[in-house]
Amino acid sequence: MYWIVCAAVFSLAYLLNIATITVLYHRGLAHQAVKLSPLAHRFVVTWGNWITGLDPKGWVCMHRLHHAHSDTEADTHSPKHAGIFGVLLTQLRSYTRVLVGLARKEAAYTSLVKDLDFPINRLNRKRLWYAPYLAHLVISIGFGVAGFWLLGAAYYFGMMSHPVQGWLVNSFGHAVGSRNFATPDDSRNNHVVAWLIGGEGYQNNHHRYPSSAKFSYRWWEVDPGYALCRILEGMNLLTIVRSKLIPAPRAEHETASGDEETPSELAA
Ligand SMILES: [Zn+2]
Ligand SMILES: [Zn+2]
Repeated sequence: MYWIVCAAVFSLAYLLNIATITVLYHRGLAHQAVKLSPLAHRFVVTWGNWITGLDPKGWVCMHRLHHAHSDTEADTHSPKHAGIFGVLLTQLRSYTRVLVGLARKEAAYTSLVKDLDFPINRLNRKRLWYAPYLAHLVISIGFGVAGFWLLGAAYYFGMMSHPVQGWLVNSFGHAVGSRNFATPDDSRNNHVVAWLIGGEGYQNNHHRYPSSAKFSYRWWEVDPGYALCRILEGMNLLTIVRSKLIPAPRAEHETASGDEETPSELAA
């Protein structure tokens, strides 16, 4: 029974990280593919940094740089230049650089997030970036001191899973997998990463239709992040921008012919 509780706590902490990043940071703040309700917006601005250890504004800025320079030398995390395992370090360095740039109000960074009506988190303005990591460590040690060391470890590693989640998406999502669209970058659709990381593995679909709340395209592609968007929409916490959704494969063929918004060509 104890093992089951530990596994459940790890899973919940892991899913909380994924949900916060993929729905609120990525589909919400970065691409406006879903419109967050005032409550959801307040939640992500206040608690996003505490949950994930990542500043929402800093993350969005880094991610928009990734889309602007995908798989070029200027990409914030490309396996083409850093290698699959090198992305783990590159994404950390890029995030730090972007956060410092935003704190110094450098135009190269602030110009990319002008639409976000909130500053970088106070923790990061005060150089207390480590506070969320410390808080989660204290909570996990608290479990341990109470006699539940395995539970504490499950909590901690679940909450600290986001660097690995980001690495899987940023490396394998741009190196290993199939392509539905002939995008100018090396983005791929990696099913295993998509299942593990809330649909984020469908990088090729996403780079072709970055403003779509739905990352899956083929019927066999499963996007748990979009399912969560639908659930949260039912709870009035966000609204999916349906006009920007990725088209169904059949509709896409019918609406092709010179339209700028249609895929340049199907590679698969
Ligand atoms: Zn990408
Ligand atoms: Zn994106």
